[in-house]
Amino acid sequence: MREHERPAYDAVIVGARVAGAATALLLARFGLRVLLVDRGRLGADTMSTHALMRGGVLQLSRWGLLDAVVAAGTPPVYRTTFRYADDVVPVAVKPSLGVAALYAPRRTVLDPILVDAAAAAGADVRFGVAVADVSRDERGRVDGVVGRTRTGEVFRARARFVVGADGIRSTVAERVRAPVERIGSSVAAVTYGHWTGLETDGYEWNFRRDAASGVVPTNGGQACVYVSASPRRIGRGGRETLTRIVAESSPPLAERLAAAAAPAALRTFTGSRGRVRRSWGEGWALVGDAGYFKDPLTAHGQTDALRDAELLARALFAAIAGDLPEHEALAGYQRTRDELSSTFFELTDVIAGHGWTDDEIQVLLRRLSAAMSDEVKTLSDLPPVPPAGRLVHCG
Ligand SMILES: Cc1cc2nc3c(=O)[nH]c(=O)nc-3n(C[C@H](O)[C@H](O)[C@H](O)COP(=O)(O)OP(=O)(O)OC[C@H]3O[C@@H](n4cnc5c(N)ncnc54)[C@H](O)[C@@H]3O)c2cc1C
Repeated sequence: MREHERPAYDAVIVGARVAGAATALLLARFGLRVLLVDRGRLGADTMSTHALMRGGVLQLSRWGLLDAVVAAGTPPVYRTTFRYADDVVPVAVKPSLGVAALYAPRRTVLDPILVDAAAAAGADVRFGVAVADVSRDERGRVDGVVGRTRTGEVFRARARFVVGADGIRSTVAERVRAPVERIGSSVAAVTYGHWTGLETDGYEWNFRRDAASGVVPTNGGQACVYVSASPRRIGRGGRETLTRIVAESSPPLAERLAAAAAPAALRTFTGSRGRVRRSWGEGWALVGDAGYFKDPLTAHGQTDALRDAELLARALFAAIAGDLPEHEALAGYQRTRDELSSTFFELTDVIAGHGWTDDEIQVLLRRLSAAMSDEVKTLSDLPPVPPAGRLVHCG
């Protein structure tokens, strides 16, 4: 291909939150030409109880972004307390691999930190662009996106790769007809809100069958409080539902909630079965919820998105730099993602089914913790990412 015929970008990434902004940031740091688009607005909130696990915090630390999260006033979490029917198990966060605490930044804090870092690394960023389709070359390979700007103009961009980081209802996945390779059987619902002045001591996870609840300390002196149960119990959600389920799940939390200032409105997720899609093809890839979604009760979607952003960015870089054939690089991305996710996906499906006994849930959570340790080990073994400001340009 002659120079003037090259696509304008190495990658166009659709969706500028944890998965997409992180992928853009890493590709730009590797020296690639990146366009990041989102139909929304920078800094807008989204549905999430936003707790990061160790792997997610480790990624932010490895990429040099944890300081910005801390500087935004995100409180450190030094302890996680699990409450069961007859047992309370506090677990201290052990400092290791540069992670001394966990954090749960609001998405209005975390997502813009990632987007700003991507822009600082050289990515072009456009909000207010809704992608409607992919474009294809004469051989059928995906070679760009087509959409509309907020003001109604047609938007087109060409790239060697299109990355769908556009969430659970991914347009890119639909347009490339990415097959669903695995589907869960459980559906749980969640209703949550942010209380002010609630006494907190780190993350609290309360597990009672069909009445799970939790507390996630976050920015602005607030704590996110959620309940998860079958969709039938949560219904349309809201404060009465949350208060009733918290009272069953953890009576001491119900008392503390009564003493704090409740939010004006709660948000409700009515549930969706977990699913894994094939996440690469000719000229395209999926990352984050677009490729792999699981129920939020195990609070791992963002951590996985930050992990998979790096796995995908490394695969795309290897393909573009010619270090690996494209198929090998992208198949390797999905294989590693699936190896690291498989146990987690299965356990989450069982936990979200709310069919366990009080003894079984403790065993399930211990297995989940072991799967998280494997993930952290893999991430800590990855080579360092080029720091901000040092570009490694490839041909
Ligand atoms: C109730 C609930 C609670 C959760 N709690 C936690 C938790 O505590 N911890 C945790 O780690 N995870 C949690 N999760 C999961 C987590 O929120 C997701 O895994 C994470 O947001 C996925 O990030 P993403 O970047 O893949 O997608 P998203 O965050 O969904 O972002 C997708 C982006 O793509 C954009 N977009 C979509 N379509 C288009 C289009 N056609 N054109 C342009 N842009 C488009 C959207 O505007 C959006 O900004 C929770 C989820 C829910 C529903």
